[in-house]
Amino acid sequence: MGRPMGGGSPADAACIFCRIIARDAPAHVVYEDDRTLAFLDAFPVTRGHVLVVPKRHVDRLLELPEDEYGGFLKAVARVCQRVERLSTHYNVSLNQGELAGQIVFHLHFHVIPRYGEGTPQWGRPRNALKDDDARDLLGSLSAS
Ligand code: 5GP
Ligand code: ZN
Repeated sequence: MGRPMGGGSPADAACIFCRIIARDAPAHVVYEDDRTLAFLDAFPVTRGHVLVVPKRHVDRLLELPEDEYGGFLKAVARVCQRVERLSTHYNVSLNQGELAGQIVFHLHFHVIPRYGEGTPQWGRPRNALKDDDARDLLGSLSAS
């Protein structure tokens, strides 16, 4: 999960999200289109926490070409539609820079369902996603 070299290349071998996009690393994929992939967070803040990432490697939103903003936001909205199957209450968030909590330097939006839990566990360490729960979640989230 180190900071990848450079920015803006289509794929970066040092970047875990590029490896997931290339299917070189495992992930529970809930949504895919030509330019976007969404998958379950491996250390969810709440059940059903999804990450939405552009397939193009960029560190930050402002490195994404402007003509790709629309398609990316559309994909985020599609994921939100699916997350609404779990809860109509959710946070959509973007951490930009280490001081804002960014640890993976490949642009990603978090979609975090909320269930009226007390204080969600935003900090680390967090519990790892369990395989059987991931399978259940895919049943709800992966159908279009
Ligand atoms: P950030 O703090 O950079 O905004 O969020 C990075 C997110 O990526 C964290 O919520 C973290 O749990 C998640 N994450 C880190 N490594 C992996 C991984 O290998 N697979 C998946 N699915 N999620 C990851
Ligand atoms: Zn990347």
